[in-house]
Amino acid sequence: MPFVVTENCIKCKYTDCVEVCPVDCFHEGPNFLVIDPDECIDCTLCEPECPINAIYPEDDVPAGQEGFVALNAELAKAWPVITTRKDALADAKDWEGKTGKIDLLER
Ligand code: SF4
Ligand code: SF4
Repeated sequence: MPFVVTENCIKCKYTDCVEVCPVDCFHEGPNFLVIDPDECIDCTLCEPECPINAIYPEDDVPAGQEGFVALNAELAKAWPVITTRKDALADAKDWEGKTGKIDLLER
Protein backbone atom coordinates (compact mmCIF):
# COMPACT_ATOMS: atom_id res chain seq x y z
CA MET A 1 0.00 0.00 0.00
CA PRO A 2 1.86 3.11 -1.17
CA PHE A 3 1.86 6.48 0.53
CA VAL A 4 0.11 9.45 -1.08
CA VAL A 5 0.68 13.21 -1.00
CA THR A 6 -2.61 15.05 -0.43
CA GLU A 7 -4.07 18.52 -0.86
CA ASN A 8 -2.30 20.30 1.97
CA CYS A 9 1.01 20.12 0.09
CA ILE A 10 -0.33 22.28 -2.75
CA LYS A 11 1.29 25.73 -2.64
CA CYS A 12 3.35 24.72 0.44
CA LYS A 13 5.78 22.11 -0.90
CA TYR A 14 8.15 22.14 2.07
CA THR A 15 10.14 19.19 0.65
CA ASP A 16 11.21 17.91 4.09
CA CYS A 17 9.91 14.54 2.96
CA VAL A 18 12.11 13.91 -0.04
CA GLU A 19 15.46 13.30 1.65
CA VAL A 20 14.28 10.42 3.82
CA CYS A 21 12.87 8.32 1.00
CA PRO A 22 15.18 5.35 0.46
CA VAL A 23 13.93 4.68 -3.06
CA ASP A 24 13.61 8.24 -4.43
CA CYS A 25 9.92 8.11 -5.18
CA PHE A 26 9.06 11.78 -4.83
CA HIS A 27 8.40 13.75 -8.01
CA GLU A 28 8.20 17.54 -8.16
CA GLY A 29 5.79 19.81 -9.96
CA PRO A 30 5.52 23.61 -9.82
CA ASN A 31 3.63 23.76 -6.51
CA PHE A 32 3.08 20.15 -5.37
CA LEU A 33 4.94 16.89 -4.86
CA VAL A 34 3.69 13.38 -5.55
CA ILE A 35 4.82 9.85 -4.66
CA ASP A 36 5.25 7.24 -7.37
CA PRO A 37 3.10 4.32 -6.17
CA ASP A 38 5.09 1.88 -8.30
CA GLU A 39 8.31 2.75 -6.46
CA CYS A 40 7.08 3.33 -2.89
CA ILE A 41 8.05 0.46 -0.56
CA ASP A 42 5.78 1.60 2.29
CA CYS A 43 8.67 2.29 4.63
CA THR A 44 6.63 5.02 6.42
CA LEU A 45 9.67 7.30 6.84
CA CYS A 46 8.25 10.27 4.93
CA GLU A 47 4.92 10.54 6.74
CA PRO A 48 6.23 12.09 10.00
CA GLU A 49 8.66 14.36 8.12
CA CYS A 50 5.90 16.46 6.57
CA PRO A 51 5.35 19.49 8.85
CA ILE A 52 1.77 19.90 7.67
CA ASN A 53 0.66 16.25 7.61
CA ALA A 54 0.07 16.02 3.90
CA ILE A 55 1.24 12.40 3.52
CA TYR A 56 -1.03 9.40 4.20
CA PRO A 57 -1.08 5.70 3.47
CA GLU A 58 -3.30 5.02 0.46
CA ASP A 59 -5.98 3.39 2.61
CA ASP A 60 -6.05 6.27 5.07
CA VAL A 61 -6.37 9.29 2.77
CA PRO A 62 -8.79 11.86 4.32
CA ALA A 63 -12.41 11.72 3.17
CA GLY A 64 -12.92 13.71 0.01
CA GLN A 65 -9.28 13.40 -1.04
CA GLU A 66 -9.49 9.93 -2.55
CA GLY A 67 -8.74 11.43 -5.97
CA PHE A 68 -5.20 12.16 -4.85
CA VAL A 69 -4.37 8.45 -5.07
CA ALA A 70 -4.80 8.48 -8.85
CA LEU A 71 -3.35 11.98 -9.11
CA ASN A 72 -0.09 10.88 -7.47
CA ALA A 73 0.17 7.97 -9.89
CA GLU A 74 -0.56 10.16 -12.91
CA LEU A 75 1.74 13.06 -12.08
CA ALA A 76 4.61 10.83 -10.94
CA LYS A 77 4.85 9.69 -14.55
CA ALA A 78 5.07 13.29 -15.80
CA TRP A 79 7.21 15.09 -13.22
CA PRO A 80 10.95 14.70 -12.47
CA VAL A 81 12.32 13.01 -9.35
CA ILE A 82 13.34 15.25 -6.44
CA THR A 83 15.78 13.93 -3.81
CA THR A 84 17.21 17.11 -2.28
CA ARG A 85 15.38 19.46 0.02
CA LYS A 86 14.88 23.01 -1.20
CA ASP A 87 13.34 26.21 0.19
CA ALA A 88 9.56 26.16 0.52
CA LEU A 89 7.48 28.39 -1.71
CA ALA A 90 7.69 32.01 -0.52
CA ASP A 91 4.08 32.24 0.64
CA ALA A 92 3.86 28.64 1.88
CA LYS A 93 2.87 29.66 5.41
CA ASP A 94 -0.19 31.53 4.10
CA TRP A 95 -1.48 28.36 2.43
CA GLU A 96 -1.04 25.88 5.29
CA GLY A 97 -4.24 24.04 6.07
CA LYS A 98 -6.33 25.85 3.47
CA THR A 99 -8.95 23.75 1.70
CA GLY A 100 -9.99 23.84 -1.93
CA LYS A 101 -6.37 24.07 -3.09
CA ILE A 102 -6.90 21.37 -5.72
CA ASP A 103 -8.04 24.10 -8.12
CA LEU A 104 -4.64 25.81 -7.68
CA LEU A 105 -2.58 22.76 -8.61
CA GLU A 106 -0.16 23.66 -11.41
CA ARG A 107 0.90 20.96 -13.82
S1 SF4 B 1 6.99 17.70 3.37
FE1 SF4 B 1 4.78 17.76 3.09
S2 SF4 B 1 4.35 19.81 2.28
FE2 SF4 B 1 6.50 19.36 2.02
S3 SF4 B 1 6.67 18.56 -0.03
FE3 SF4 B 1 6.53 16.85 1.34
S4 SF4 B 1 4.37 16.40 1.37
FE4 SF4 B 1 4.55 18.44 0.54
S1 SF4 C 1 6.75 5.51 2.43
FE1 SF4 C 1 8.97 5.33 2.19
S2 SF4 C 1 9.27 4.59 0.12
FE2 SF4 C 1 7.18 5.42 0.22
S3 SF4 C 1 7.38 7.58 -0.40
FE3 SF4 C 1 7.54 7.52 1.81
S4 SF4 C 1 9.74 7.43 2.21
FE4 SF4 C 1 9.43 6.83 0.07
